[in-house]
Amino acid sequence: MNKFTIDFAQELDLNDSLKKFRDRFEFNDPNLIYLDGNSLGALPKTTPDHLQNVIQKEWGERLIRSWNEGWYNRSQKIAKKIAHLIGAKAEEVIIADSTSVNLFKLAYGVLKLQEGKTKIVSDELNFPSDIYLLQGLIDLFGNKHQLSLAKSKDDLTISLSELQSLINPDTALVALSHVVFKSAYMHDMKAVTQLAHRNNALMLWDLSHSVGAVPIYLNDCNVDVAIGCTYKYLNGGPGSTAFLYVRKDLQEKIQQPIWGWFGENNPFEFGLKYKSAKGIRKYLAGTPPLLSLSAMEPALDIMLEAGIHNLRKKSINQIDYFIELFDQELKPIGYQLGTPRDAKHRGSHISLKHKEAYRICKSLIDPNIQDKVIIPDFREPDNIRLGITPLYTSYLEIFEAVRQLKTIAKDELYKKFDQEKDKVT
Ligand SMILES: *Cc1c(COP(=O)(O)O)cnc(C)c1O
Repeated sequence: MNKFTIDFAQELDLNDSLKKFRDRFEFNDPNLIYLDGNSLGALPKTTPDHLQNVIQKEWGERLIRSWNEGWYNRSQKIAKKIAHLIGAKAEEVIIADSTSVNLFKLAYGVLKLQEGKTKIVSDELNFPSDIYLLQGLIDLFGNKHQLSLAKSKDDLTISLSELQSLINPDTALVALSHVVFKSAYMHDMKAVTQLAHRNNALMLWDLSHSVGAVPIYLNDCNVDVAIGCTYKYLNGGPGSTAFLYVRKDLQEKIQQPIWGWFGENNPFEFGLKYKSAKGIRKYLAGTPPLLSLSAMEPALDIMLEAGIHNLRKKSINQIDYFIELFDQELKPIGYQLGTPRDAKHRGSHISLKHKEAYRICKSLIDPNIQDKVIIPDFREPDNIRLGITPLYTSYLEIFEAVRQLKTIAKDELYKKFDQEKDKVT
């Protein structure tokens, strides 16, 4: 059968063993193609009832008694499910705060432990917020450190040799995104971690764009510390609480800077001298946002049921399919692939580059341009970023998206829009 037909896409969907999972999510608009699950995951159908119970029963009826009836340990209980997804032990993961705050806490702890070493290494494809936090920490430590950013030769990838040239025995911390937010380049976690360790540097991985998208093996790679986001592929809901990981043997050594009562050894003694909790709880600061924390659980259950290896397999197939369509339909008309072709080196989103990327994104989203509303996001300066979330993305949607991308560029439909950017892109 010809690969570039709607029949072929439908055939792929028919043979997809994960297709039943799409039905677990709240998609009510048949004309919507949502390709932004890497930015904000979709709503599971079970989440509203689950939250309703937390609100009506746990909060409304049980009131403060709920702290002893499940709230106090909820962060650890849910963290156990995340531990499964990232190849860590349950006692190495906890849910707390936002990704940004967790990066601050753990990077602070590493720099403090490594006092005397003055180099921090990251790369120029990292998420700017992560870089800002490192800059802020350097300021906080009295400007003794130097931040070096590994350069990308092609704007898509970071080579191991480039990192090798920067990481040396003076390096305290290597902090990288496992999958980078624009090009979806995926670092070799094991090789980079080993490189850091050979220089006695500690390794921090930001898993925001990889957790729930690719299998992760923190223990197997001997990773020191990690952080990650739960509202992207984990479908935890807008602003849902983030997670952090500290390898068991480092938990005694790595301090965190926010000495709040939830990280205290015995908060309900109300003593006046802080003594940090033992184990992973010491990385908590204050009361967790229970509603947002609870909302994460139904979504994680769906993901665990589907299985991260099955999801990865489908994601690779879907992106390979996308790239085949791209080569045939989009490359000849001015689009460039902004994502590595080799599945080993990419996560689960795709960037397309085009000089009219911003206006093309606007055209995809506008209901009056074509029959489907397609939601991607735009990333400066010229990226159309499309999230492939195998829990709910279908092959037919990928086919439709390529078809619309083609028409919009070929017929210059984007010219109906101006260049002025929205606040959130
Ligand atoms: C999404 C994302 C974050 C989000 O941080 P917040 O504190 O939740 O705003 C951080 N780092 C990376 C790499 C991300 O992709």
